[in-house]
Amino acid sequence: MSSLAIPPDLDLPDFATGSVWLVGAGPGDPGLLSLLALHALRRADTVVHDALVDERVLRLARQGATLEFAGKRGGKPSPKQPDISARLIHLAHAGRRVLRLKGGDPYVFGRGAEEALALVAANVPFRVVPGITAGIGGITGHNSEGVVPDGLDWGALAQGAPVLVLYMALKHLDAIAHRLIAGGRHADAAVAIVSKAATPDQRVVETTLGGAAAAARASGIEPPAIVVVGEVVRLRAGLDWLGALSGRILVADPLNVKIRQKVS
Ligand code: SAH
Repeated sequence: MSSLAIPPDLDLPDFATGSVWLVGAGPGDPGLLSLLALHALRRADTVVHDALVDERVLRLARQGATLEFAGKRGGKPSPKQPDISARLIHLAHAGRRVLRLKGGDPYVFGRGAEEALALVAANVPFRVVPGITAGIGGITGHNSEGVVPDGLDWGALAQGAPVLVLYMALKHLDAIAHRLIAGGRHADAAVAIVSKAATPDQRVVETTLGGAAAAARASGIEPPAIVVVGEVVRLRAGLDWLGALSGRILVADPLNVKIRQKVS
């Protein structure tokens, strides 16, 4: 524990009683927490967390802190968003230091803005601490009704961005892949499905856009997962340092750039 002490000369902000900190817990590995997130865990009286927050992160909470689960899990009954906001306000009004801890970054498909605005309306002081998001910039695979978003210009997405990172896309992968292919993306575009990133259960399935849904089913890969579409996936052959720890041989030129340059 002592090795995890926060250096006092950092002069981190006081976690005032009656306030709420909306904090990103990162994708899993506690090593990806910010110092402010660790500080908040050490000071909070109540930690209200969602399903994505890793057990190992929760174990860093101050002894004696109360842990409350307020998760939303796809397909299962979960607390309604206004109830969660009301709970945060209630705890703050009761004079607690309330840590609202969310997987990844609180603003990336995390309803963080909604909760923050509810706190503003209730005059509860708050602070937002960003977290490392599962996939740096992405598109949601379903809207608030749980279906593939129609308002998106899938054709423009398919052709406009060399890399697409889809959050919450596993369930609707078939429909999403169809739309992207119909919009002009090649069926053989490289795809990686990354499940439980930055946890000991991380799994990656490398496939193609056309084969992605079938590959996901066949592999039994589980949520939470992000789906990455684009040539960037091929860089894994060189950059998979985690795989290298268990014997994968990395290649220095995964995109064969040198060879291609020679040919052209
Ligand atoms: N605020 C979170 C995202 C919440 S939406 C963030 O910034 O990461 C939930 C989706 O995030 C999941 O369906 C999945 O697509 C993605 N996700 C979150 N944590 C993940 C992880 N450890 N591995 C893979 N995907 C993850």
